[in-house]
Amino acid sequence: MTTYDRALVWFRRDLRSFDHAALHHALASAKQVFCVFIFDKDILDPLLAHGSMDRRVAFIHASLRELDAELQQHGGGLIVQHARAAQAIPALAQTLNVDAVFCNHDYEPYAKQRDQQVADALGKQQRQFFSFKDQVIFEKNEVLSLAGSPFSVFTPYKNAWLKKFQPSPGMLDSSLIPHFEVKPKRGQLALPSPAPGMPSLAEMGFDDIDLAAQHLPTGMQGGQQLIDDFLPRLSRYGEARDFPAVKGPSYLSVHLRFGTVSVRSLARHAMDAIRSGTRADGAAVWLAELVWRDFYFMILHHHPKVAEGAAFKAEYDRIAWEEGPQADELFAAWCEGRTGYPLVDAAMLQLNHSGYMHNRLRMVTACYLIKDLGIDWRRGEAYFARMLNDFDLSANNGGWQWAASSGCDAQPYFRIFNPITQSQKFDTEGKFIKRYLPQLNKLDAKQIHAPWLAPSLALDMAGVSLGKNYPEPVVQHDEARKKTLARYAVVKKS
Ligand SMILES: Cc1cc2nc3c(=O)[nH]c(=O)nc-3n(C[C@H](O)[C@H](O)[C@H](O)COP(=O)(O)OP(=O)(O)OC[C@H]3O[C@@H](n4cnc5c(N)ncnc54)[C@H](O)[C@@H]3O)c2cc1C
Repeated sequence: MTTYDRALVWFRRDLRSFDHAALHHALASAKQVFCVFIFDKDILDPLLAHGSMDRRVAFIHASLRELDAELQQHGGGLIVQHARAAQAIPALAQTLNVDAVFCNHDYEPYAKQRDQQVADALGKQQRQFFSFKDQVIFEKNEVLSLAGSPFSVFTPYKNAWLKKFQPSPGMLDSSLIPHFEVKPKRGQLALPSPAPGMPSLAEMGFDDIDLAAQHLPTGMQGGQQLIDDFLPRLSRYGEARDFPAVKGPSYLSVHLRFGTVSVRSLARHAMDAIRSGTRADGAAVWLAELVWRDFYFMILHHHPKVAEGAAFKAEYDRIAWEEGPQADELFAAWCEGRTGYPLVDAAMLQLNHSGYMHNRLRMVTACYLIKDLGIDWRRGEAYFARMLNDFDLSANNGGWQWAASSGCDAQPYFRIFNPITQSQKFDTEGKFIKRYLPQLNKLDAKQIHAPWLAPSLALDMAGVSLGKNYPEPVVQHDEARKKTLARYAVVKKS
């Protein structure tokens, strides 16, 4: 790459100072490198419409403080602005008189459009714009079928993905995953200019949230802390990951979302564990989850219509969903965790209290909204998008369309989770339920999954008064199931 005098690295969802493609390439090609993050008003203003409490903005803010401190260690620092990125980046490039702007690919439609605008504006100023793959292992057309077309089914995609790291059959070689070293020369990282200083959360209209109190460690250090905590548990991931009361998964999703960890480094850990045979089973299952993540990014790239609310399988857009005041009330009951189905309610309370929801529960609550309440999956998708710390358009849409049976590689429409048996199977003792619904604490393992089926004496003795301190079920699953099969019949008539 040409050698430039000055370059600007634009951080977005890659808030780290190690193994960073854009920073690596900027340092390799420019004598002086500035770093910037823009709190983009085009993203934040719509969030403010829902209130000033947003854990994600607080997470970014805390993570930027660490990134800035890290860059300062190398003599640099971070410029942070609260502005419209599409205009602010070209303006800053002009002020700093950089030759080129470096950043990492973002695959969401808004971001793609914004990046094109920035690239065009920079082009008019005779400046370069470079963007790199960084947040996924494989993107766009890098994993294709033998016929050269994009996959729409996961397993063959995963097999083709894995094959890229198997120089000989069955052997995963993690050294094939690139590492983008960040090693600035002395004085190469430029001091923030214009004047340093980060807008406070309050100045941007957001609350300062004590994320540590919510067990949400931020930044690169927080990511590393979770990795250190998870790796010894990796061998048990396959069995433990489905039980929400157990510390089974990695809880790294918010860090993957904001790039405070490197997905390449995580994949390397998993491959090395598989290869060494020490934590092989769990590691293989976990690596497959990282592949799901790539898969959904690839789907979004090839099928941007899914970001506009379209079903991946068009015939599913014929379905007529419940609408009107009664549906609105059911939707509110779902959002607020008062459907009368304890596992569903506890899961929604987990989401509302922490911004996290266990994967098994995302599946259960999504299926319940769609197939028990008959409500359009897009409403649930939007609620998750607002509440999840790890919200990623691609995975969230993929998850919701999976549950609605309208997605690529989705569950068949006639497979309808039973929220009671899911609860019995995955929270057998009701431990997770009790964490969020203490009023059910005294119900035993037999009764807690469907309190309305418990004898009234048992309810009395447990202090549970249905309709008073815990709701009656808002629908009956068996009836709802029949209605759903009828609702989905339009899909068959293609
Ligand atoms: C309805 C629904 C909505 C979802 N919305 C999101 C979302 O907005 N953002 C998000 O990151 N994940 C989403 N998921 C996928 C999954 O639930 C979360 O990634 C996972 O629960 C995060 O917890 P973890 O980091 O402890 O996961 P782990 O089990 O430790 O998995 C490791 C990583 O793999 C990735 N991953 C795991 N499962 C999936 C999956 N099914 N699809 C794509 N990537 C996956 C995540 O990046 C995750 O952090 C959704 C799933 C469903 C069913």
